[in-house]
Amino acid sequence: MDYDIIIIGAGPAGLSFARSLADTRLNIAIIERSPEKDLANPAYDGREIALTHLSHRLMNDLGMWQLIDDDRIALIKSAKVLNGNSPYSLNFDHHETDKENLGFMIANNVIRKAAFDALGGFKNITLLAETDVVNVGSNAASSWVEFADKTIIKAPLVVAADSRFSTTRRMMGIATSMLDFGRTCIVCTMQAQEPHQFSAHECFHYDRTLAVLPLNNNQVSIVITLPSEETDSVLAMHRDDFARDIEKRMNNKLGALELTSELFAYPLVATLARNFYTNRFAVIGDAAVGMHPVTAHGFNLGLQSAHILASKIKQALAKGADYAASPVLARYSAKHSRTAAPIYHGTNALVRLYTTTTRPAKLARRALLHLGNIIKPAKGLIMDQLTEIKAEKSGRF
Ligand SMILES: Cc1cc2nc3c(=O)[nH]c(=O)nc-3n(C[C@H](O)[C@H](O)[C@H](O)COP(=O)(O)OP(=O)(O)OC[C@H]3O[C@@H](n4cnc5c(N)ncnc54)[C@H](O)[C@@H]3O)c2cc1C
Repeated sequence: MDYDIIIIGAGPAGLSFARSLADTRLNIAIIERSPEKDLANPAYDGREIALTHLSHRLMNDLGMWQLIDDDRIALIKSAKVLNGNSPYSLNFDHHETDKENLGFMIANNVIRKAAFDALGGFKNITLLAETDVVNVGSNAASSWVEFADKTIIKAPLVVAADSRFSTTRRMMGIATSMLDFGRTCIVCTMQAQEPHQFSAHECFHYDRTLAVLPLNNNQVSIVITLPSEETDSVLAMHRDDFARDIEKRMNNKLGALELTSELFAYPLVATLARNFYTNRFAVIGDAAVGMHPVTAHGFNLGLQSAHILASKIKQALAKGADYAASPVLARYSAKHSRTAAPIYHGTNALVRLYTTTTRPAKLARRALLHLGNIIKPAKGLIMDQLTEIKAEKSGRF
């Protein structure tokens, strides 16, 4: 064998997984098509990632959090969910918890850089950058990957972290459901005139959804989801016209807004692999579950998948067992699926409800918000999902 584990994809999930196993005796290769300089200093991509308390702890345990300057981490102290044009909101506040914040905001490129830097100094981790995996396979004894230049390398286990559109997942025959919403997400940052007080707003308007998330220095991250056919016209808007439009959609709550980044567009396709493993092959990160961003769970789940798979592998190593055997991978798949599948289906149901503009749907949307405020257990459940404070405290992770 050339390596003990081959990881395909050096995105945040693949790098976090490598770091989870860096302090074992395993010899690990990470294959990535981008150049190393882009991993060492990833460009800003408009994504400001909302992280839960569980993710905070997992990133801390991996030595990633410590590599991020405090001024690159913003706190979410409260959150409001609004429906249609109504001022009524479903409210969440950190005072309802024992924490000083509901969650954290960190730019995706900052997370990716920390994940890359956290691997520095580990001699058992080899990065093969600017290398495209074009084929993958396995038999009873090993797995292999083939590069574009026809080189083949082998390992007892291959782990794919090659995005929600994973080609290697398909090559390994893992069936995956894909839900193309026919919508696009546009993200950017803006400077606000009025203090945002570290409050997040999720506005389910009838034609679009608009999330406004607090960043440091009174900036906000703007996340718009809209029908894909409207994307080009929004991207072509003059910066000032765009700003006036968002101010209006926010009912001027934050006063004048000024665009401080370019606009980035992402097509909205959610994916869920039926299984997160097959023979000597596992999928993690978005390759396992590719979430709609509205509930901000994508990377939070990606971190959990990396952590769970690494824990199962370490348990097998401690017993001197085959860490790539199917029962080990099956335990990872079952555990991650128990958390991820309900969040995936729940998020998609929410998106369907909040993009339907029939009268019954509008009534249901309104009723849900009111019930959410009134029914404490329901509110508690949403709060748990939003913050993962309970999961962080439980011994489950
Ligand atoms: C607009 C937006 C907002 C979001 N907001 C949040 C949020 O608030 N909270 C949250 O938790 N998540 C959020 N997410 C989700 C989060 O960004 C993703 O879950 C996360 O980036 C996925 O990481 P990954 O490592 O699994 O995959 P990716 O980041 O897609 O990385 C995959 C890597 O694999 C490489 N690769 C692919 N194929 C090959 C191949 N054949 N050979 C070699 N290399 C290959 C690619 O080059 C890439 O580097 C958001 C996503 C979007 C689009």
